[in-house]
Amino acid sequence: MSGDTSSGHSHTHGHGPAGLTRNQSLVLSALERAKAPLSAYTILDQLRDDGFRAPPQVYRALDKLVEMGAVHRLESLNAFVACRHPDCDGHETAAFAICETCGQVTELNDSEFSHHLRDLAAKVGFAVRKSTVELRGTCATCQAVA
Ligand SMILES: [Zn+2]
Ligand SMILES: [Zn+2]
Repeated sequence: MSGDTSSGHSHTHGHGPAGLTRNQSLVLSALERAKAPLSAYTILDQLRDDGFRAPPQVYRALDKLVEMGAVHRLESLNAFVACRHPDCDGHETAAFAICETCGQVTELNDSEFSHHLRDLAAKVGFAVRKSTVELRGTCATCQAVA
């Protein structure tokens, strides 16, 4: 990769590799390579050759990446995905469509949706820090097969 980004505007990602520790960037690239969400243990297995020995090393890196908004945690799967949202700026609300047939996960983002959730919470005096919405169901490909 020689980093030639001549295609249109080159917007800077809110979470480039800059400022990441070695462990954090290894964990992030494992997630970026993955086609599906990965558990911390799967990440650990993939990174053994890179010197990862114990789950806390993976968890520490994941905590930081989640905090930065580079990675999302999917509670219902107990797994992690790299943020694929092109304009990701550490969005406070992320929604995921999780196919229960093939396991594919698609990140959906909509700022109106975030605002709506925030307004909803504000009605009961609640201040939202972060939210992850997980939609369970069947993806378009699996629906076509059925
Ligand atoms: Zn995201
Ligand atoms: Zn599917």
